[in-house]
Amino acid sequence: PRNRFSTMQDSSSVETLGETAFDVIIIGGGITGAGVFRQAGLQGLKALLVEAKDFASGTSSRSTKLIHGGIRYLQNGEWALVREGARERLRVLKLAPHLAEPIDLLLVAPNWFTCLKYLIGVRLYEFLGQVRREDRHRLIWGKALAAIEPSLDRKRYPYGILYREYLTDDARLVLANVRAGCALDGVALNYTPVESLLEEDGRVAGVTIRHRGSKNPIAVKAACVVNAAGPWVPKVLAMDEPALKSLILSKGVHVVLARSDLRINQCCLLVADDGRPVFAIPADEIVYVGTTDSIYEGSDLTWPPVLDHEVQYLLGVVNAHFKLGLQPPQVLSSWAGLRPLIAQSGKATTEISRKDEVWVSRKGLITIAGGKLTGYLKMAELVVQQVVQQHPVFRDRIPSALKWFPGASQPQPPEGLLTSLLDSENVDAQILKRLVRRYGDEAQAVLASGRELIAPGAKMILGQVYWAVTQEYAQTMEDVVYRRLRTPLYEPDLSVRGVERISELMAEMLGWDEAERLRQLDQIRSRLAADQHFLDNT
Ligand code: FAD
Repeated sequence: PRNRFSTMQDSSSVETLGETAFDVIIIGGGITGAGVFRQAGLQGLKALLVEAKDFASGTSSRSTKLIHGGIRYLQNGEWALVREGARERLRVLKLAPHLAEPIDLLLVAPNWFTCLKYLIGVRLYEFLGQVRREDRHRLIWGKALAAIEPSLDRKRYPYGILYREYLTDDARLVLANVRAGCALDGVALNYTPVESLLEEDGRVAGVTIRHRGSKNPIAVKAACVVNAAGPWVPKVLAMDEPALKSLILSKGVHVVLARSDLRINQCCLLVADDGRPVFAIPADEIVYVGTTDSIYEGSDLTWPPVLDHEVQYLLGVVNAHFKLGLQPPQVLSSWAGLRPLIAQSGKATTEISRKDEVWVSRKGLITIAGGKLTGYLKMAELVVQQVVQQHPVFRDRIPSALKWFPGASQPQPPEGLLTSLLDSENVDAQILKRLVRRYGDEAQAVLASGRELIAPGAKMILGQVYWAVTQEYAQTMEDVVYRRLRTPLYEPDLSVRGVERISELMAEMLGWDEAERLRQLDQIRSRLAADQHFLDNT
């Protein structure tokens, strides 16, 4: 089916939420909550997903966007975790091939001994992940390495290993899961924070939500409640059993550079002098570089600041590998995200396991924390298993036969879709390529929604704004710019040039008056300024 846009966004239907008996309510619309939402629907459960701000506005739009097993955890001896991650990659690829682009990651080594160590790791990774022969690594040096990555300082890094990983668009993966869950009869609401938990006979039996369509908080009942609030997990636990477990937040920063400044061809895995991995990922005209990994104790969990020394650190790693002398003013944009890690005493953030855990409180609140984007399908299954275990009657539910996943309804792979579009549409090839990678087999429908460029020379079209509002629950300019189109990442310059036109179209579609349009514009401009002039944030 085409997306069934949540029917609950208007105030009259929101009021009726209190009359619906949900099987499960999921708190948090990041990848974890969105995955659980879809999985619940697949198993025939009536689910409500409630997100305090926008879907994917937390950690799930701030990642490195790799669907990967985390090869580096091999050195901590976390074999099972790496094995699981390496295999989960293939499940994401199968479900959403447009959102899992195969890439060859170049891991560079300063000497033969280190290269040998990496080789053993990569071989083990491929063995654990059951990587197909044609996708296995290649060792390169000398002219071959120079041909692949001419700007690499080969005196310092004479060896390289190319191995297979997958690249996604994290926020769009979340949105696709939310839409799939809605098509399975679920209800999803953004900008709807959960304020408290309802209790009945000593058990958690629902939530109260705040929604702009209603003056008062609305009580919504459900057999089961899941806390998938990422960095906010402790805040939701505080509504129930605060002492259950504790989380540590680790901040990760990325910077965006122009590809003309950092001329790389490959996705690169660089190892910093302190042993930390730093990825440099080219995407069209930009390269993003990240990430840092340090304990975060600040109060702003939504927009953690990007600090001067963090930018310097990332540029230092790049400069050491590419002999470039990149300076902070060359940073076009930046972002920071928080990893919700399960505290392990005496361990540094880099050593804390990324393993996910499910906890059940005495009153039955199910909490899922930790984990990675890559393992979200498995995490969702674990949570729904727990829901069914608490409520054995759910075992009798008939699983849905509807396996629709937005953008992946046709068997044709993204490469085939692109070829057909290139043949049939008279549109810039780069625009088409992007549309296919972000929207899969819905690319044509997006194109049909409006081909006009957002700004002269841009690689994004107004149809994407239309699609964001009508199909992807976008309500504010930030939703469109940051999580649907992602201009600060892929076209930082367009973010500034294109916002006026985006605001006009959104005002028309959402009925904003001029004061509201200007307020939205003002908000997005100051947000962009903060990301694009990191030095102001120190
Ligand atoms: P979030 O995405 O933060 O979602 C939680 C949501 O809950 C938020 O949207 C929040 O608004 C909502 N919420 C909070 N309180 C309430 C409330 N009271 N009511 C309603 N809603 C509420 N993983 C990978 O696999 N590959 C990578 O390359 C990768 N890179 C990473 C790089 C960085 C810098 C970071 C920080 C993480 C990275 N990860 C990566 C990990 C991955 O991004 C996270 O594991 C994942 O995004 C966590 O998703 P989540 O849904 O649990 O949390």
